[in-house]
Amino acid sequence: MAGPAAPAAPAVTVFRNVRPYGAERVADLVAVDGLLVDRLPEGAEPEVVDGAGRIALPTLVDAHIHPDKTAWGEPWYSRRPAGSLPEYVRGDVDLHRHQRTPLAERAHRLLAHAVASGTRAVRAHVDVAPAFGLAGVTGLAEVRERLAGALDLQLVAFPQHGVRRTPGAGALLAEAAAGGLIDAVGGIDPAGFDGGPDGEGPAQLDLVFDLAERYGLRLDVHLHDRGDRGLAPLRDIAARTRAAGLAGRVVVSHAFCVPELGGERLDELAALLAGSGVGLTTVAPSAHQVLPFRALRAHGVRVGLGSDGVRDSWSPFGNADMLHRAHLLGWTTDARTDEELADCFALAADGGAELLDLPRATLEPGSPADFMLVSGECLPQVVVDLPPRELVVRAGRVVARDGRYLGGPAGGAAPVE
Ligand SMILES: [Zn+2]
Repeated sequence: MAGPAAPAAPAVTVFRNVRPYGAERVADLVAVDGLLVDRLPEGAEPEVVDGAGRIALPTLVDAHIHPDKTAWGEPWYSRRPAGSLPEYVRGDVDLHRHQRTPLAERAHRLLAHAVASGTRAVRAHVDVAPAFGLAGVTGLAEVRERLAGALDLQLVAFPQHGVRRTPGAGALLAEAAAGGLIDAVGGIDPAGFDGGPDGEGPAQLDLVFDLAERYGLRLDVHLHDRGDRGLAPLRDIAARTRAAGLAGRVVVSHAFCVPELGGERLDELAALLAGSGVGLTTVAPSAHQVLPFRALRAHGVRVGLGSDGVRDSWSPFGNADMLHRAHLLGWTTDARTDEELADCFALAADGGAELLDLPRATLEPGSPADFMLVSGECLPQVVVDLPPRELVVRAGRVVARDGRYLGGPAGGAAPVE
């Protein structure tokens, strides 16, 4: 009989000659068992990767994406005109029915591409509605397994069709919450789209807060409504978050009612959100809809950045590339100075990590060894020029090279049990 196995030697990799954040001087990044350390452990026989003077940047967090809806990698899908939520929702169902490739395969393809583009974590909203059942939840749970070790995936059960306006959606949401596969319960426009007088069942916020409390889940509510129809639910969500002791676990996505505010009204709302522990996510869709993220963060509000839909029925655009999203954030906020461009990158890197409660990747000792190597001059120039991601490293392991995801933890092959 064999004796106890010797402890496995630590996995040590040295990435030589890289320029952290675009610094002029090259340095080495030393990864031991997934974390960066300040020097090579004595006696270690590291794997060595030469960075050849490339810039090392932390990999990014996509705080809001819809991988279940995507047609990424599929034959071109021609969209009909649409301009309202009910029309978009019908379009989702149409696209879902017309795809030849299963949902999990499409979502995996998109998220593997996200990894190869330098994303280390995503919050995935998946539709939960009678039209789909829980196919999105089970499909994305499968993708989470397949990408484990390369991508952290938080799963939100999202009632895109509304719970009051769509009979059966609330029960499915409760089933998803009880099923143990999701991290968060979603919501949508509690006063507008899902708040009409014809609705049945409990008010949406009553239901989703109850599920979050009962099952220890997070909340992430889509809020497109503007003016008081958006602000009243936002204040309500802040009050409920405090009352339920859910500070730090509740996010409102889009919040198009916030960019309309300025001056004291914005200050007052930001203080309320910060004090209640409610975070916000923007996808930087346009100059008038992007969140005033600097002012919000100055008040202590956590803000994340996300892709939203990617080549789905809502839009032919999107690419799940968070460096490109940081570029779009710069474009929509009229970034000009190096500091403003670096802020856009930081929202994609640190803002998303804070929002999703992940350790920040900083390239400092003690940080997760999560970074990418690109050729370029400096960080602001990279945000503008979007160079290819030549190497993507997750927990000290190379997971993608030259835009290609390398596969499971064995680096190309499926994991060996
Ligand atoms: Zn969304």
